[in-house]
Amino acid sequence: MIKATFPHLGNFYIPCAALLYELGLEPVVPPLTSQRTIMLGTKIAPEFACFPLKVNLGNYIEAVEAGAEFIFMAGGVGPCRFGYYGEIQREILQDSGYQMEFIVFEAPKTHPQELWVKIKRVVPRNTLSKLAKALYVFWQKARAIEEFDRLANKIRPLEQKQGTISNLQNRFYRLIDNASSIKDIHSVLDDSISEMQAIPLRETNYPIKVALLGEIYMVLEPRVNFQIEKLLGEMGVEVVRTIHLTEWILEHLCLSIFKPDWYRQLLLLAKPYLGNTVGGHGLETIAHTVKAAVNGFQGVIQLAPFTCMPEIVAMQALPDIAKKLSIPVLTIIIDEHSAQAGIETRLEAFIDLINYRRQQTSGKRNLELEYGN
Ligand code: SF4
Repeated sequence: MIKATFPHLGNFYIPCAALLYELGLEPVVPPLTSQRTIMLGTKIAPEFACFPLKVNLGNYIEAVEAGAEFIFMAGGVGPCRFGYYGEIQREILQDSGYQMEFIVFEAPKTHPQELWVKIKRVVPRNTLSKLAKALYVFWQKARAIEEFDRLANKIRPLEQKQGTISNLQNRFYRLIDNASSIKDIHSVLDDSISEMQAIPLRETNYPIKVALLGEIYMVLEPRVNFQIEKLLGEMGVEVVRTIHLTEWILEHLCLSIFKPDWYRQLLLLAKPYLGNTVGGHGLETIAHTVKAAVNGFQGVIQLAPFTCMPEIVAMQALPDIAKKLSIPVLTIIIDEHSAQAGIETRLEAFIDLINYRRQQTSGKRNLELEYGN
């Protein structure tokens, strides 16, 4: 069996491993991203490369150590550097003495049938129906993880015993990983959601609600964003993630073909501040910040890797949006030098600010009620 690997992106190693397995490959899941991973990648990457590229390189090296022969990687087109990732990573690995075969999947819009041709190259005996089944298992696992995570973020700020949701979440990931049929996936999800709904909750006011947005890798990878969703949840904050991998796949693999103007609504929301797409999630960052303000969120947190061009562009508009729509925005830039304590301190200060604004608003409202203004 060919041993194939891929870079980590949050917990999507679970559906990715299932996809490779269904295609008849032996998935080699790299060890979860750690300080060692970051150190290995940083050592061989150019200093000003995007941070996710460095972490990916660390994942590959650790996967090679575990016996991987092939690397699967997504590709892309557009103004940001992601489109070059596969090729650059291949060259960096080669220069560092790692002879790995790279398979880069581009969106079918730009290279029709390439996905199928590439898969056939690695596993020639695959049929289209086998590919369809593999993709279906991948999709069901990915959707289950996202559904569970959405609910976990809602309940975590209200849990009576801190850590209950996180423990349940870790067990859920293990069970979904082991689920071998669609029926198993659904029953693991249903049982885990029922368990989560039975957790005793605190009697409290509505928790603070913040939107988490920015560059996709930083938002989805808890091991580089210092588990920000968990941190905020345990500070009593409900986190609403605006980026989900399955939506990204739908937009780039399906909507870009059948509904090429799918991002019109984003353009309309962002219009006063940005007139076009700038690659990555720059447009989404602006549009979702506007949307969060309009929908009554109490704050927005933007996550960006150091040197990320689209997020730097978006960052220029955020102070203006924050002022005009009266919503606090915190930008956190992460790279290999970032540390947990620094992130925690900034989050605590941000939540204090939101709480202060909340008190001021409710004080003002009470005064208005008292004096009938
Ligand atoms: S979105 Fe930002 S971090 Fe990601 S590849 Fe593009 S420039 Fe680099």
